[in-house]
Amino acid sequence: MIEYHSFCRHEKSCTSVSSPLTGKFSIKTSKKENSWQQQLSTARRGFYELCQLLDITSDGFEGLEKLDDDFPVIAPTAYLSRIVKGDPNDPLLLQILPNAAELIETPGYSQDPLEEESSSPAPGLIHKYHGRVLLIASSTCAIHCRYCFRRHYPYQENRFQRNQHQQALNYIRSNREVREVILSGGDPLTLSNKYLQWLVNSIADIPQISTLRIHTRLPVVIPDRVDTDLLDLLSGRLNIVLVIHCNHSNEIDEEVGYALRKLSKSGITLLNQSVLLKNINDDADTLGLLSHQLFDNGVLPYYLHMPDQTQGTAHFDISEAEACSLMSSLAGVLPGYLVPRLVREQPTSASKTQLPFL
Ligand SMILES: *Cc1c(COP(=O)(O)O)cnc(C)c1O
Ligand code: SF4
Repeated sequence: MIEYHSFCRHEKSCTSVSSPLTGKFSIKTSKKENSWQQQLSTARRGFYELCQLLDITSDGFEGLEKLDDDFPVIAPTAYLSRIVKGDPNDPLLLQILPNAAELIETPGYSQDPLEEESSSPAPGLIHKYHGRVLLIASSTCAIHCRYCFRRHYPYQENRFQRNQHQQALNYIRSNREVREVILSGGDPLTLSNKYLQWLVNSIADIPQISTLRIHTRLPVVIPDRVDTDLLDLLSGRLNIVLVIHCNHSNEIDEEVGYALRKLSKSGITLLNQSVLLKNINDDADTLGLLSHQLFDNGVLPYYLHMPDQTQGTAHFDISEAEACSLMSSLAGVLPGYLVPRLVREQPTSASKTQLPFL
């Protein structure tokens, strides 16, 4: 079970969304009334509420409520507003809607497919690759992606308060070969600017660190997160690399584009990683359009991940052979710099493993 920060404990319904009296609703937010924190705190929704909001049938879900209890639906209004109502196959909807297939036990799939727990020298710290460490900065996400390989991560046992992070920082300081700290999660940008400021300053104080990388879905999911204070706190001595996580061009609307261009203009290097997902983005047209849309907003494609073998996610998989042939179609229509690297993560490798084109 995932632990939520205090601003995430709240009622399941979002008052800005539905109006049962008129029978109509609008999923537009009034910007003035909705700070990013408010948008985050109202993002938790039950399965049935999600179906109602998006005009999707909830038939057949009876008895499957466990899915929603174990890994609840979380999706902010800004994200929902990009989903086509009434379309059960919408590529954004399929990323967040609980599915009975999650209950199928797949042989060989595990709860911790990357065996991260075995390479953790301090709470929330994963040191697997040379020269860089990954710090789980926050246990909260602004959205729950059904394919997530961290959906079973024991967040409860890894408490991320200052004193825990301090232990991780001490480890980093004593490792002279580490040049880059990667903030991951959960989503690091669910942290308050105040806490982030402390973390970023503490990292900048470690002399051998030159680069701070942040893996986040927030600029895509709640673009209002990209506020002036965030840009300010990222403007210190470190190189900042922000790796967003966008799987489909429908995820980039005007507001997301604006947020990304603001980040890019402030000198931050922007990269994108996607997960290759069956029936969501597993064709060359969709991925090609995504690459172009990203680049138009200052973002270069970085990784395209094969889904990890996490229990409950096998229905998102496509075969390696299909993935590789998809990559060769993509490379046939895109400039080289817009072709992401197709990778798979293996527990024992010293880096992500790149798959060849067919
Ligand atoms: C993916 C990952 C990294 C970063 O790898 P890059 O190839 O530098 O992007 C670092 N640590 C862990 C544990 C990772 O999973
Ligand atoms: S935002 Fe990232 S960590 Fe959070 S559920 Fe989605 S994929 Fe997983």
